[in-house]
Amino acid sequence: MRLKDKVAIITGGAKGIGEETSLLFAKEGAKVVIVDYDEEAGKSVVKKLEELGTEVLFFEADVTDRESIQQITVKTKEKFGRIDILINNAGITADAFLTKMSEEQWDRVIAVNLKGVYNCTQAVAPVMLEQGSGVILNASSVVGIYGNIGQTNYAATKAGVIGMTKSWAKELGPKGIRVNAVAPGFIVTDMTAKVPEKVLEFMRSKTPLGRLGQPRDVAAAYLFLASDEASFINGQVLGVDGGLVI
Ligand code: NAP
Repeated sequence: MRLKDKVAIITGGAKGIGEETSLLFAKEGAKVVIVDYDEEAGKSVVKKLEELGTEVLFFEADVTDRESIQQITVKTKEKFGRIDILINNAGITADAFLTKMSEEQWDRVIAVNLKGVYNCTQAVAPVMLEQGSGVILNASSVVGIYGNIGQTNYAATKAGVIGMTKSWAKELGPKGIRVNAVAPGFIVTDMTAKVPEKVLEFMRSKTPLGRLGQPRDVAAAYLFLASDEASFINGQVLGVDGGLVI
C-alpha cells in the first residue's frame, strides 16, 4: 500500500498505460481521478476500480480545455480535500513525414501533448503549493530524446515535456513538489497498434531486452516515482525502454 490514501489525478487514464496506472495505483491504496475523453472506456475502468473498493471519480474531458481542467481540479479538491499526484499521461500521435504534415496535425498534437500538460499542471500546482507537497509525473518518450521519422510534431512535444519537467522541478522543488518524467520505448497499446508491424519488429530488434514494453512496465515506473521511495528524485527522465536508447 505504497500510495495509501493519496489522491491521484491520471489524465488519459481510461486506456493503455493510463488504465494500467489507474489500476496499479488503486491496488496500492490511492484514490483515483481519471480524466479522459473516451467516456465508454472511462466507465469501464471506473467499474474495475470500484470492484477493487477504490474511491474514484471520472471526468469526461479534453486536457486542451482549460476551463474543464480548472473545474475538475476544484471538484477533486471538494471531494477528496487534496491532490497528491498528477500524472500527465494523455497523449496522441498524428504521424506524417515533415513535407506531408498538415498544420492541423501539428497543432492538435502540440495542443494535447504539450499544452495539455501545461494546462493540467497549472491548474493542479496551486493546490499542491498550498499543501506544501505533491508529485507531478509527465509522459515523455524515447522519441523526445532521439527523434523519429514521421513524428516531427510528437517528438517536439515529448522533448518539450522534458523541458517543462526540469523547469518545474527547479521552480516547485523548493516548495516540496517533485516533478519527473518517464520516457517509454514502444509499449503495446492502442497507440502503437497504428504502427506498422515491420517498424515494431525493428524496434524489438534494437531493444537489448528483446521485447516491446507492456503498460504495466510504465505503470510500475510511475508507481515508484509517485511513492515516498523516490522522495529524493526530482527533475529526472526515467527511461522505460528495455535499453532501446542506449
Ligand atoms: P493510448 O492507449 O492511446 O491511451 C491514451 C488515452 O488518453 C486514451 O484513452 C485517449 O483517448 C486519451 N486521450 C487522448 N487525448 C486526450 C485528451 N486530449 N484529453 C483527454 N484524454 C485524452 O495511449 P498510451 O499508449 O497508453 O500512451 C499514454 C501516454 O504515454 C501518451 O502520452 C503517449 O505519448 C506516451 N507514450 C506512449 C508510448 C507507447 O509506445 N504506447 C511510448 C512513449 C510514450 P482516445 O483513445 O479516445 O484518444
